[in-house]
Amino acid sequence: MLLAVVASMYAVYHGPAGLATIARRVHRYAAVLAAGLRAGGVEIVEDGFFDTVQASVPGRAVEVVSAARERGINLRLVDEDTVGIACDEMTRRPHLGAVWAAFGCPDADVAGIDHLDATARGALPEGLLRESPYLTHAVFNTHHSETEMLRYLHRLADRDYALDRGMIPLGSCTMKLNATAEMEPITWPGFAGIHPFAPVDQAAGYRQIIDDLERWLAEITGYDAVSLQPNAGSQGEFAGLLAIRAYHRAAGESHRDVCLIPSSAHGTNAASAVMAGMRVVVVGCRDNGDVDVDDLRAKIAAHRDRLAALMITYPSTHGVFEQAIGDICAAVHEAGGQVYVDGANLNALIGLAKPGRFGADVSHLNLHKTFCIPHGGGGPGIGPVGVRSHLAPYLPNHPMRAEAGPATGVGPVSSAPWGSAGVLPISWAYIRMMGGDGLTAATEVAVLNANYVARRLATRYPVLYTGRGGLVAHECIVDLRPITRETGITVDDVAKRLIDYGFHAPTMSFPVAGTLMIEPTESESLAELDRFCDAMIAIRAETVKVATGEYERADNPLTGAPHTAAMIAGDWGHPYSRDDAAYPVKSLRAGKYWPPVRRIDGAYGDRNLVCNCPPPEAYDS
Ligand SMILES: *Cc1c(COP(=O)(O)O)cnc(C)c1O
Repeated sequence: MLLAVVASMYAVYHGPAGLATIARRVHRYAAVLAAGLRAGGVEIVEDGFFDTVQASVPGRAVEVVSAARERGINLRLVDEDTVGIACDEMTRRPHLGAVWAAFGCPDADVAGIDHLDATARGALPEGLLRESPYLTHAVFNTHHSETEMLRYLHRLADRDYALDRGMIPLGSCTMKLNATAEMEPITWPGFAGIHPFAPVDQAAGYRQIIDDLERWLAEITGYDAVSLQPNAGSQGEFAGLLAIRAYHRAAGESHRDVCLIPSSAHGTNAASAVMAGMRVVVVGCRDNGDVDVDDLRAKIAAHRDRLAALMITYPSTHGVFEQAIGDICAAVHEAGGQVYVDGANLNALIGLAKPGRFGADVSHLNLHKTFCIPHGGGGPGIGPVGVRSHLAPYLPNHPMRAEAGPATGVGPVSSAPWGSAGVLPISWAYIRMMGGDGLTAATEVAVLNANYVARRLATRYPVLYTGRGGLVAHECIVDLRPITRETGITVDDVAKRLIDYGFHAPTMSFPVAGTLMIEPTESESLAELDRFCDAMIAIRAETVKVATGEYERADNPLTGAPHTAAMIAGDWGHPYSRDDAAYPVKSLRAGKYWPPVRRIDGAYGDRNLVCNCPPPEAYDS
């Protein structure tokens, strides 16, 4: 998400005209570069090009590339006879001179060529020139000065409910502090300005970060090897399952293609299994939320010869430390299968337990959950995959970087050898600053916070699943279905009402419909936990008023939530007061988050593509 936002803001700031100007300049530099090479007797392979030219230098390519490197420029060694050169918006005239010198060409008359080329089409093939409009939405055509851009970003932040405003108790998402000290380094030129395919000897700092993280994550999880290449937890799942398939294949058991997945699993598990060419067989859960071990044994027996893997989340998506995890792993191994533990809930384990030691063979972690990389809204993060030694030969590798994985690996799962390496410094800084003791303490506080919330809410909202001693792991599911049956107030109503109280809603209806899953993380103070619990308790009191008839069933502060400022200021036809709607607790007088929009039909939006782009005619001058 962070990376997607950064990239989209580049387009917002420059807009279609700005991007075209940048592109034209880049192309002119490439054209000037080519002209200078030709003038020096070097043959250019392609007549048509945009930003990249290939130069033919029979037998001299290695020599030219190393001469350029001595001048501080990385060129691409295509083969012994060919060198690739790409220009971009950072290319300056001295760069051209250095490249010509590396080829042994005399310095060309840049100003002269530049002048000639500025009026010409250059080397852009006629048939490829773009005619259609692009980036026509107003957002790409408005914010082109630094002042405008600053205000635009601020306006977006104002509308957003982010961690700088309060708690985001989204279960399964681990919305913890993204500390400024962790975030700042990724903007430093030394980290931000390097190309993913820069020669490894120029990336000593990144090598250290990658080596440290691989080692630290292996120590934390108890695995023997870690690959940082996957760009998301789901991609880590895919990579882990590919490793399992390759392992079975190497053992002459390529027919093993059944993947057992409990019904409580995150949706990505089944999707990854299908992508990896497996057949999904669902295992049931018992009333207490645990995997139904009897059903598991029955499914293992039924698919014994074709069993490839079990994918299981620990602690479970039901928010409990499942007692039978060791037995479950053993039963799968005994049938010749491999155990994939979904490590998205590692925030409940670090320093306390290691998946690689309680029976799992492979896990992904979500650095954008447990290890502080900002996330939300989808988009790239980092989902490293950790494996025990027997799977290590089948981790991802990369055809263009031997160092990025084992020679026997399954190939790349993302286009860059080390995935989203640009945000690795965040997780590196987190682990380095916390240290082992700090990480363990964070886990303990995360679990403690979840149990505190569960206990404070339990008399108002039944906690659906608990483990030994009536305890939960790092998150808890509260059941709203009894309230819904009694009052008609749904999980949506409560989630929207929380916005009026100044909170982001917890995770709704996952993994159980009609429930809320609350994950406070270690980052929230007692004061913020209490503010949240007080809001939930006050909301419960509102549902009681619906039950007793004090509030109307069809029109009350819950069904009307969230209440926008425009709604409060406009005609008020509701049977409850504006004050009840906007300021249900006193503390909101001092600081109130006003939601920018009222409720939308979420299910309709999920099923129908809704475009709010202005029509093309809006730009017809
Ligand atoms: C978040 C999550 C995933 C998927 O991770 P992404 O990085 O979003 O692809 C998988 N399993 C569980 C339990 C999760 O919470």
